[in-house]
Amino acid sequence: MPETISTDLLVLGGGPGGYAAAFLAADRGVQTTLIDAGKKPGGTCLHVGCIPSKTLLHVAEVIHLAHDAADFGLQFGEPKVDLARLRARGDKIVDTMATSLLKGCKDRGISHIVGRGKFVDSHTITVDGGPRVSFKTCILAVGSIPATLPMFDIKSARIMDSTAALRVESVPKSLLVVGGGYIGLELGSVYAALGSKVTVVEMTPNLLPGVDPDLVRPLHGKLRGRFENIYLNTKVTKVHEPEASAMGLTVEFEGEASSSPAPLPQGEKANTAASFEKILVAVGRKPNTDNLGLDKVGVEVERGFIKTDLQRRTNVPHIFAVGDCAGEPMLAHKASHEGKLVVEVLTGDRAPSWDIRAMPAVVFTDPEIAWCGLTEADAKRQNRNVKVGVFRWGFSGRASTLGRNDGLTKVIVDPATDQILGVGIVGAGAGELIAEAVVAIETGSTAADLALCVHPHPTLSETIGEAAEVLHGLSSHGLTPGKKQV
Ligand code: NAD
Repeated sequence: MPETISTDLLVLGGGPGGYAAAFLAADRGVQTTLIDAGKKPGGTCLHVGCIPSKTLLHVAEVIHLAHDAADFGLQFGEPKVDLARLRARGDKIVDTMATSLLKGCKDRGISHIVGRGKFVDSHTITVDGGPRVSFKTCILAVGSIPATLPMFDIKSARIMDSTAALRVESVPKSLLVVGGGYIGLELGSVYAALGSKVTVVEMTPNLLPGVDPDLVRPLHGKLRGRFENIYLNTKVTKVHEPEASAMGLTVEFEGEASSSPAPLPQGEKANTAASFEKILVAVGRKPNTDNLGLDKVGVEVERGFIKTDLQRRTNVPHIFAVGDCAGEPMLAHKASHEGKLVVEVLTGDRAPSWDIRAMPAVVFTDPEIAWCGLTEADAKRQNRNVKVGVFRWGFSGRASTLGRNDGLTKVIVDPATDQILGVGIVGAGAGELIAEAVVAIETGSTAADLALCVHPHPTLSETIGEAAEVLHGLSSHGLTPGKKQV
């Protein structure tokens, strides 16, 4: 019989949701145990997600900056990529951060157990190869795993999910990216910068389905030049690895195609078959809730996601769930916020609940896309009247100095109150810029507030001020709705 440990709070999963909850709970004096399958905490985001991908995207950015510097009279040679060194640098970044999380556990007196936990009953979790832990309260923060499609289950080393792609074992001559979402476009951009001929196949009519098309358009334009092909409205129907073939995988497609550099006429069928050295499957992620024994304790699940109320409490009152396993959007910062919210519910003297108006989302492509709050599509769906101020970066001094006039900033307001409901940005550094919009929306600011705040010149942050000024006819560089550009 394994040893049984008792704890007041058990956090299952040590990603941004789990460790944020565990750290805050311990800081509030709660006896806390953190169980995670990884040797060091950090979860998908730190080990095989946000941090390694952004390290690679930094490298891609440097390659593009060096290339584009020619426009400013600076010539660099072709980059020489040392993959072993690149991997070592990425590993070091991750390990340094993970080690500091481990230290964070130790410093706070959190019991950290390595292994996979599974419910035995509603107050006990067993850890494979480890102890049983009995708890008073549990926070489930078990995250998500890459989704796949049966046709890719052919046990070929040439087929990668995001975790394998992040290792960059090699730079394939040709790479097919299945899925034109966050992961497909971010990692596709990395491999294209490193020298792969990248083809993206996306089954819907747009890249980044669901994202404001005005924001996606400049990115799509740029990727046309960097990717070999972008097939929209197209699905992969079959994949096989011909025996004794050094060529790679043969892939069959079905659907319309919008391709570059030679677009097919509307409605024409995509290539019926093509060969690729490697394939990256990036068709979404699914909650990691199988094999947890949730059925044993009666925790309700819907499409794999754990159902919670606005305090992130499940139908079993002493069990909570946060992060990817508790529903969309699957974003690290959403998970951390939820983790802290639950601890506030458990230890605070008020009873907060989820009340976020502006959840930021960032796609770290080049250009970046970032948005928060209401989108124009949301407003349409809700039959809600909105006013939109758009500022194109062609008129931004800072964007001009960077050679990055390809951006656009839009501010969406309630026409009756002028209150800011949403902001969308496409352009260099959009992910950093969106933070101002989050603060503006969460603090109930109006477009007039934003317009009257002095933004430093010359910076890209001015584009937010100018988009708000557009709504009030105050913009020096933007076009006031209904007025002609002079
Ligand atoms: P995603 O949902 O962003 O994109 C998946 C894409 O695959 C969609 O466009 C979908 O239409 C397409 N698709 C699905 N089946 C297909 C098929 N058979 N053929 C062609 N296309 C198909 O998912 P993802 O890119 O795998 O990322 C998963 C999640 O991880 C995201 O939802 C996001 O929340 C998170 N993530 C976030 C970031 C970030 O914050 N920057 C980065 C990476 C991942």
